[in-house]
Amino acid sequence: MPELPEVEVVRRGLQTWVSGRTIADVQVLHPRAIRRHLAGAEDFAARLRDRTVGDACRRGKYLWLPLADTDASVLGHLGMSGQLLVQPQDVADEKHLRIRIRFADALGTELRFVDQRTFGGLSLHENAPDGLPDVLSHIARDPLDPLFDDAAFQAAIRARRTTVKRALLDQSLISGVGNIYADEALWRARIHYERPTATLTRPRSAELLRHVRDVMTAALAVGGTTFDSLYVNVNGESGYFDRSLDAYGREDEPCRRCGTAMRRRPWMNRSSYFCPRCQRVPRTPS
Ligand SMILES: [Zn+2]
Repeated sequence: MPELPEVEVVRRGLQTWVSGRTIADVQVLHPRAIRRHLAGAEDFAARLRDRTVGDACRRGKYLWLPLADTDASVLGHLGMSGQLLVQPQDVADEKHLRIRIRFADALGTELRFVDQRTFGGLSLHENAPDGLPDVLSHIARDPLDPLFDDAAFQAAIRARRTTVKRALLDQSLISGVGNIYADEALWRARIHYERPTATLTRPRSAELLRHVRDVMTAALAVGGTTFDSLYVNVNGESGYFDRSLDAYGREDEPCRRCGTAMRRRPWMNRSSYFCPRCQRVPRTPS
């Protein structure tokens, strides 16, 4: 599943290759890919036709394209395997091509939504007064957003009665942090994933936030992480940050700080990777 850096790479690709272009026509090749648009494929196509695409936007892992001169946006859901590809029109259709958007210009490329497992899709939404698609109003800003409020986040996380990794993945508290970068940031901060957030001091919560931001910035610099060959960016190039991961996916390999074998534990239908020496299990209150 793509995380924030991957989605930001896709956003930049859309901004470069799609923003400012006027939609000529939309072909929906699989109804599941627009199931979130309840009015159906024909309505979806009609509402996009002749509209010009505005600046590509992102909040956390959510990506959208505002339609200029309307109060609506096309929201992209990448799901587990969704890809947005900008392809020359004469390139053969991908096996799992679900939606094709053609443009009214002579650039010769089209936007394709390709999704093998069809968990993802596109949908059209009204924008709230702040310009965000209405369905995203509960999503907090992400740590790379210049308007992210560090002090408010630190106060909120320390006030929660939860554990630290759950808090990092809570999209209403901080958006865009997924399983991979949560494990990376916790390893860097030497914090065990099950530590109660109420036990974090103010400096520790500040340090954790700094590591979250660093790990995402580093991933973004090299184009995001890819573990799934199904996921590639908007122009079909895979990210390659996976080689620089310190925690995620490193079970039984030596901790890069102390040499102790890294561990993996089941966690909320996923896994948590950690160093048992650097990231001590929190003492349970008796
Ligand atoms: Zn260690």
